Amino acid sequence: MYDLLDLLEDITRPAYTGPAPLGFTSRYFTPEQLLEARTELARIRSEWSKDHPTFGTWILGITTGWCATAPGHRLCLLQTDLRCRCSFPYLAAQWEMIGPCSCVGDLLYQANCPDCSWHHISSNESEAVIAWHDHAWPGWRDLPTLPAKLRGQAGTRTMKPALAAWLETHYPPEFRIDGAPILTDRPGRCVPGYSPYGGYDIATPQTTQ
Ligand SMILES: [Zn+2]
Ligand SMILES: [Zn+2]
Repeated sequence: MYDLLDLLEDITRPAYTGPAPLGFTSRYFTPEQLLEARTELARIRSEWSKDHPTFGTWILGITTGWCATAPGHRLCLLQTDLRCRCSFPYLAAQWEMIGPCSCVGDLLYQANCPDCSWHHISSNESEAVIAWHDHAWPGWRDLPTLPAKLRGQAGTRTMKPALAAWLETHYPPEFRIDGAPILTDRPGRCVPGYSPYGGYDIATPQTTQ
């Protein structure tokens, strides 16, 4: 009975014609093409694979996605998880229940610029973000680092007068436009949208890794 229903569904639904494969790929596809493949895989697999129906396909980063721009470029940050269930438990008992690790890969990040069909894949999110800045904001590595007292504890998106004055003195005009990044001396990841220009707040320790 179910076979018949499945067959009927196969016949009636339009066939998937997207170019991206229905699984992991490191080849270049636009973010839309990658997300289309994931949606299709989720639909055809939901019946028989409850755990990881979309294993290996790319999704928009939870706090990133379409998260930065530069003149002539955009950044879409995607991620995929090639780890097995060993990455989820918090208790020893949960580890034991799951059994031996069968990870086929890592948690991966992809920086994607659809305007240039350019992408960069890394297991380090900040490294992928920095690769995109090398691609889209040439010269950004020469920017001076923002003094800690101007950035504030948690960082700020707000352009305050003292901050504006400092940037005017130290940043060249081509880095004082919409979407431009700033460099800050602090630990942690690169944070989208935390430059007062709307671009990335890049943690300088990340650039030397
Ligand atoms: Zn580009
Ligand atoms: Zn594992």
